[in-house]
Amino acid sequence: MAGQISISSIQKMKNLSADIQNLLREAVEARLSSYSPYSNFKVGAAVLSEDGVIFKGCNVENASYPIGMCAEKTAFGAAICAGKRKFKAVAIIADQEKVFTPPCGGCRQFMSEFNEIDLYISKPDLTNVLVTSLKDILPLQFEVNADYSF
Ligand SMILES: [Zn+2]
Repeated sequence: MAGQISISSIQKMKNLSADIQNLLREAVEARLSSYSPYSNFKVGAAVLSEDGVIFKGCNVENASYPIGMCAEKTAFGAAICAGKRKFKAVAIIADQEKVFTPPCGGCRQFMSEFNEIDLYISKPDLTNVLVTSLKDILPLQFEVNADYSF
């Protein structure tokens, strides 16, 4: 049910590792570049590759609404273009008053293409961070030749 968190935890920014704090700050910075004149809903993302490089992304809207891009997708696009294929973590920043902003369903599937990834979701003030993982928020993702036995 929307707004209920059962498989994640909310942690204080100060208790996270230096690498993750840095990743979250990069996502805050990426959000500032958001192109969102239609919704005015700015989102920033930063993905940390397995070898320690950070790639940033922001949402990019379009007058033809459905072709806009989420911040997570633009961040992954930059990383893939740089030759990265394995990732440690993704930070996502948006600003809703009462809730964190987890990735949309499409982005969950998009990110699941690569490997298990930890997710750190926060607001621009970076006080509290929702810590979860792609595995937790996308069970039974679509895979070619997946072996889901029931
Ligand atoms: Zn999305």
